[in-house]
Amino acid sequence: MKLLVVGSVAFDAIETPFGKTDKILGGAATYIGIAASILNVKSGIVSVVGGDFHQSDLDMLSGRGVNIEGIEVVKDGKTFFWSGKYHNDLNSRDTLATEVNVLENFDPKIPESMQDSEILLLGNLHPGVQLSVLEKMNTRPKLVILDTMNFWMDSAWDVLMEMIAKTDVITINDEEARQLSGEYSLVKAAKKIHTMGPKFVIIKKGEHGALLFHDGKIFAIPALPLEEVFDPTGAGDTFAGGFASYLAKKEDFSFETMKSAIMVGSAMASFTVEKFGTEKLQEVTEVEMMNRIQEFKELTTFEVEV
Ligand code: AMP
Repeated sequence: MKLLVVGSVAFDAIETPFGKTDKILGGAATYIGIAASILNVKSGIVSVVGGDFHQSDLDMLSGRGVNIEGIEVVKDGKTFFWSGKYHNDLNSRDTLATEVNVLENFDPKIPESMQDSEILLLGNLHPGVQLSVLEKMNTRPKLVILDTMNFWMDSAWDVLMEMIAKTDVITINDEEARQLSGEYSLVKAAKKIHTMGPKFVIIKKGEHGALLFHDGKIFAIPALPLEEVFDPTGAGDTFAGGFASYLAKKEDFSFETMKSAIMVGSAMASFTVEKFGTEKLQEVTEVEMMNRIQEFKELTTFEVEV
């Protein structure tokens, strides 16, 4: 196993200026698993769902080569449910409902087949659960990537700090980086977050791209300008999934490789936003992915003579 993913497998109900869905497939680990499969990276998910979860969605994941042995099904429980409504600019959203359900008592169990994973990607969950996963691994993975959000900064600061101290790469959005560091400047924010533990800090800026900070160096990448953005849900998770999968493929965790990985993550996320939920991502072929990476290269490469 190259990539172990721990995160939500969920139902989402999404409302954007373009439409509205009933309960559809969602969850951070779902987006990440699909992203990994597009790059043909062997991944496994550790999560929990209720008896109401659809077997067809589990079959979809395993059909794509995602190991779902670690997705526990609590027969008499209900699957995590999240509902959100996007504002007109699509850059911000209100959470309408979070029903934690079976995630409330989630006690992750790592199947033997996933114990030797090289990369651990901890999706947005309670930092105590994230820490417990790391503690349950027989050997520390070569790279620990952490996604988190402002909710945990407000409600579980100390344990979040403990988790961040054990993290190699943290991915957060600009607003969260400011809250975590108490600094408005993202450069100062990244410096402060480095002192908390992570050697690599990735700050996502939605439609304005992402920044990578490491050892005094900064790399910036835009988001692909798209004619139509339909639903941003899962873009951050897809980004993390594409990023981690590229590193898994290259087996190299240097700053230079991470620059390319950020481009792959951004290219992958640009698909997710084109349709509701995971719909578009499920349709993407490897060739389409390669073409989009090429578009990204053309968008960002230039020479200048001074
Ligand atoms: P993103 O748009 O990248 O922030 O991720 C959206 C996904 O995260 C949705 O599919 C939700 O099911 C999932 N999600 C939202 N809130 C939480 C939470 N508190 N814990 C775990 N997963 C969540």
